[in-house]
Amino acid sequence: MSTAPTPTAGTPIPLTAAPPTPPAKTETTAGNYFVSNYPPFGAWKAEDVEAYLGVLDQPPRSDVPLGLYTHIPFCRKRCHFCYFRVYTDKNADDIRGYLDALLSELRRYADKPVIGGRKPRFIYFGGGTPSYLSPDQLGFLTRGMKELLPWDEAEEITFEGEPGTLTDHKLRAIREMGVTRLSLGIEHFDDHILEINGRAHRSREVQRAYAYAREIGFPQINIDLIAGMVEETEEKWREAIAKAVALQPDSVTIYQMEVPYNTTIYQTMKAEGRLVAPVADWETKRRWVHEAFAEFEKVGYTVTSTTTVVRDPEKVKFQYRAGLFSGADLLSIGVASFGHLSGVHYQNQHDFQPYLSAVNSGRLPLYRALRPTAEELYTREFMLQLKLGSVRASAFTAKFGTDPRVQFATPLATLRSWGFLVESEDRIGLTRDGLLQVDRLLQEFFDPKYRKGRYA
Ligand code: SF4
Repeated sequence: MSTAPTPTAGTPIPLTAAPPTPPAKTETTAGNYFVSNYPPFGAWKAEDVEAYLGVLDQPPRSDVPLGLYTHIPFCRKRCHFCYFRVYTDKNADDIRGYLDALLSELRRYADKPVIGGRKPRFIYFGGGTPSYLSPDQLGFLTRGMKELLPWDEAEEITFEGEPGTLTDHKLRAIREMGVTRLSLGIEHFDDHILEINGRAHRSREVQRAYAYAREIGFPQINIDLIAGMVEETEEKWREAIAKAVALQPDSVTIYQMEVPYNTTIYQTMKAEGRLVAPVADWETKRRWVHEAFAEFEKVGYTVTSTTTVVRDPEKVKFQYRAGLFSGADLLSIGVASFGHLSGVHYQNQHDFQPYLSAVNSGRLPLYRALRPTAEELYTREFMLQLKLGSVRASAFTAKFGTDPRVQFATPLATLRSWGFLVESEDRIGLTRDGLLQVDRLLQEFFDPKYRKGRYA
């Protein structure tokens, strides 16, 4: 770990000569790639849980909106590329015990000064597979949640669904809960690719679930796809894009396949002594996303982030991401979930039993936390918003007191020298090529002490 001093917020970082070309990364090797938070999770520590507990008894920062994330860690099957904490072996009693624990955890937060009487402005059910729950289980959970923290001010309620779990009856129950944004984990439309990657659903279930969801009238339907799954081909990817375009979803999120260490794919690589994952290289995956974006743009969609195209950006917003990327408070409940309150990051116990034991013995189920410095919070927000394509320098200057072109002079000079920046008077943006590889470019903004560690 580097012992280089961390500049304080507002201190210009001296310019140094940028490497002549971006660091090469072509083959897909093991490890996390996406940047979803900062400082990296590896820097979060059990010792910092005390700092987090301290902020719970303080009133919230003024005008900071509150979001609520609920983690449902159950799935029908474990996908081979999955790196989340999920369980495929839990019975109805286990699930009921987990839902009780979620409500107990939320109850412990509801009266804390840090909530300050705020109601959540955006709510997200993620997993795992939230749609694994039955309509009765969902009703039990959401009635209890609403009693503790009313949803009447929520502008957006997102719910992740796996197509094979979504019957007409269940989709109606989900809509009746108040869900405004249904996010379907389709990933691909080809049955062989779905099967070989360990997905539980098949393409006919996608078509059926999507048709029901449209009929029921969800205000927004997002579909998730993955570029570069095992055995992906040029032809199958083109077909997948054509099928996705034909559905006319409100938004599409396209991930580039990564192979973190805790995936089945990596376990197989390790057993076979292979260093390179059996999926397309990064250049190919970027090209596939590029081609997909181009197809959607032809029919009027707009690229709104490194992973997203949206049919009508004036109408289709994603409040959860906007809140997360601009420093909103996020109260996260459930096993292994990540949250952020009053400037402090935290993660819950990351296994089922320790999570339940903590909650059932009257404690918050905390595993690790981190209080970022003011400079780290600035870096976090700037990096996350760069993933949307561009940022307004004046907005960051107003919020953090230093112009980002001064604060981040060195990494911006590096990206500029590589040809990835598009700049105007007040905008700092990325070229399309830069946007499609933004996660690795963001490493340039990391404090050197965080660069070498595994991202997760
Ligand atoms: S459905 Fe999602 S959370 Fe569940 S195993 Fe597959 S990738 Fe993981």
